[in-house]
Amino acid sequence: MTSSTRPVPLAAVMALLPQTQCRLCGFDGCRPYAETLLAGGTDINRCPPGGDVTRLALAALLGREAHAWEGERRPAPRVLVAIDPRACIGCARCLPACPVDAIVGAPGLLHAVVATECTGCLLCLAPCPVDCFAIHTHKDPPHGPWPDRSQEEARRARLRAYRKSRRARAPQRRSSVHADRERKRREIREALEQARRERGWQGPTRDRRIARGE
Ligand code: SF4
Ligand code: SF4
Ligand code: SF4
Repeated sequence: MTSSTRPVPLAAVMALLPQTQCRLCGFDGCRPYAETLLAGGTDINRCPPGGDVTRLALAALLGREAHAWEGERRPAPRVLVAIDPRACIGCARCLPACPVDAIVGAPGLLHAVVATECTGCLLCLAPCPVDCFAIHTHKDPPHGPWPDRSQEEARRARLRAYRKSRRARAPQRRSSVHADRERKRREIREALEQARRERGWQGPTRDRRIARGE
């Protein structure tokens, strides 16, 4: 909250974050960092990909002191990764690690990085058992509100991260829909059985026979 009484919307904080979902801030992604910032639980100097532009803009927006970078958490040149096709064994362990779905491939097949979507977060490196990722400096960084990242890139990364997390939750949603249907069927069965017991009703077949005068 700023010094005025009007609360700062989450969207305003999110708009200042580059959406790489890199977790360098110590949170599981940009949104949890933004939420904790708004709740006053963390500082404005924890997003290296946003550089000084984000750090100072967050301080101004939230009415906080513009603390300097601390320790090793500080801006670095932007990078992107590529997979060595001669080394990749197609184990697919890197796929779940990429928060923005920038890796394509399927189990048993060669994997590749979509360069235009790679945010350089490096989260895919650790799970690779054969160490086949190469790190490159980004040769043509676009210019936007951050030193080397455009709003359009941030929008795409945010959307891709959102879609990925939705897909990850999908089996859970499907099973809860299934459980809900089962519960309704059970309730209907129980209600019918109770009606039979209470009224001697023997179901729709008998009702139709009676209506036909059989
Ligand atoms: S870009 Fe990385 S460091 Fe910055 S808020 Fe998002 S996840 Fe955190
Ligand atoms: S490919 Fe690797 S470095 Fe690029 S965005 Fe995905 S996890 Fe991050
Ligand atoms: S983790 Fe490494 S070896 Fe496995 S699919 Fe990904 S790039 Fe290939």
